[in-house]
Amino acid sequence: MSALLSVRDLRVEFTTSAGTVTAVDGASFDVAPGETVALLGESGSGKSVTAQAVLGIVPKPAGRITGGSVEYDGRDLLAPGTAGKLRGREIAMVFQDPLSSLNPVFRVGTQIGEMFRRHRGASRKEARAEALELMRRVGIPAAEKRLDDYPHQFSGGMRQRVMIAMALALSPKLLIADEPTTALDVTVQAQIMELLARLQAEEGMSLVLITHDLGVVADVADRVVLMYAGRVVETGPIREVYEHSAHPYTSGLMGSVPVIDGPRERLTPIQGAPPDLLALPSGCSFRPRCRYAESVCAEREPVLLAAPGRPDGHRAACHRTEHVLRDAEGVLHDA
Ligand code: SF4
Repeated sequence: MSALLSVRDLRVEFTTSAGTVTAVDGASFDVAPGETVALLGESGSGKSVTAQAVLGIVPKPAGRITGGSVEYDGRDLLAPGTAGKLRGREIAMVFQDPLSSLNPVFRVGTQIGEMFRRHRGASRKEARAEALELMRRVGIPAAEKRLDDYPHQFSGGMRQRVMIAMALALSPKLLIADEPTTALDVTVQAQIMELLARLQAEEGMSLVLITHDLGVVADVADRVVLMYAGRVVETGPIREVYEHSAHPYTSGLMGSVPVIDGPRERLTPIQGAPPDLLALPSGCSFRPRCRYAESVCAEREPVLLAAPGRPDGHRAACHRTEHVLRDAEGVLHDA
């Protein structure tokens, strides 16, 4: 199936007082129609900047796209003005903090209805009816009464539902959700994820979930793209990557996440902190934290290659993939 979104060799740089930082360094991935892809990584891995590039909202003047391509439905999203035209209509987004995206002085029903008034020419009455319908679809209890409430009168989880309603107003083909549950407690996180998964299936839209939390996306994503220091280090079908991690970063992230087939306590969680992008080590950026590192890792940067012996689409950027895979097998069989 041809991709709805295709990102190739994307490179995004930021100018800082200390020098130029490459926040995204050659990232490539596809999102098929109706597919849910998790962009996963720690803070500073480049996942949110990648999303900003897709949406055409890389902060200027500090940030700039210096290479690569982003195609959406055959259109060049990096061409001036293209992303702006599609944003909200075909490509919608949900952010971590709904309060910063909602206007505190307008009632939520008015804010959701405004999408229909502005983009569809709906009357006030029609817009209110559409807003009510959407609030019901995203599971806001007593939606009719809550139409006239202000954002601060909603809990964090309910505000995120309002944001999701606004994002869905124009029936987008692609929804990008950047850490949509990070600010919420665990129970509400699960509810919002269930909601996103249900809506994704109902609408048949593609969904890109950006998160640092592997556990959050375990049950909803089809594929995962793991980023580290601006680069894609592993990608593949989510179950395949969970069960047969081919990169030490992935197996480290999973060290504390009990998922799919039970606990994986035997894996060692990642030590250390994400790297300073202004002072990356030679060779592999993950090297200072990697228990598999050997001399070649300091000499050459690994490239993303098919994981040996694994199904199509599972790729990893590591000189010692075979060892990592073998260890992952051992953990599975011992568990
Ligand atoms: Fe570790 Fe070397 Fe693989 Fe990098 S290339 S993840 S340092 S084993």
